[in-house]
Amino acid sequence: MGSTHFGFSSVSAGEKRQRVMGVFSSVAGQYDLMNDLMSGGMHRLWKRRMIASAAVGLGGRVLDVAAGSGDIAIGMARKVGAAGRVVLTDLNGAMLAEGARRVIDVGLLPGRADCVQSDGSELAFATASFDQVTIAFGIRNFVDIEAGLAEFYRVLKPGGQLMVMEFSRPVLPLLDLIYDAYSFNVIPLLGEKITGDRASYQYLVESIRSFPNQRRFTKLIEAAGFGLVRHENLTAGVVAIHRGYRL
Ligand code: SAM
Repeated sequence: MGSTHFGFSSVSAGEKRQRVMGVFSSVAGQYDLMNDLMSGGMHRLWKRRMIASAAVGLGGRVLDVAAGSGDIAIGMARKVGAAGRVVLTDLNGAMLAEGARRVIDVGLLPGRADCVQSDGSELAFATASFDQVTIAFGIRNFVDIEAGLAEFYRVLKPGGQLMVMEFSRPVLPLLDLIYDAYSFNVIPLLGEKITGDRASYQYLVESIRSFPNQRRFTKLIEAAGFGLVRHENLTAGVVAIHRGYRL
């Protein structure tokens, strides 16, 4: 792969991977606090919706890609119950360490929830080995989004569901303006005050703006082979959940 985007900058694929690593290594320790501050706690509601509406049932096997500090994985582990299994995977060891710590804190032992470090676009798992793949706020950081979607398709069993939650495009004109002003003025400043790292939060805002809108992302998921692809807007499109199936 040639050049790609890191926020609004054009960089090589190798540089993006390295810089994304740098961002998440830098923010890992304050990641949960910053999520609450930046979204006013909304991310908890978005994640709750994602977990509640996932297709997988009791006893299912779930892969949570870009799992970070594990919010989705923990909810999914509760959903699939003691007979189920959730695997958390993330490119970044510092973020995955946060996930591993939290999984143990809530009493999920190995076998019910396991952590494996891997790149979401080169997954270290067998073909057709999961009933559900989830990824929340991760895919916009990938160097190669299409390669990631192809990998999610490969590791899903036929009939399995993919759910991707990502920042998207507000569908209300006024909200669009308010959201832009908030994103570009408040979030980098908050990042600087709380973590001392303004640049990582500037990247966050720019990466959100550079990510495909609801319609374009639907097309990418379909191009990876998924069927019945639909999206659901949350908070008027600030966030969208895309769902698709390996048929
Ligand atoms: N899913 C968690 C959540 O919703 O709170 C964490 C989301 S955090 C914004 C993005 C995560 O994506 C980070 O933990 C980062 O390390 C991970 N990530 C970035 N690029 C990745 C890749 N290519 N493969 C796997 N994980 C990646």
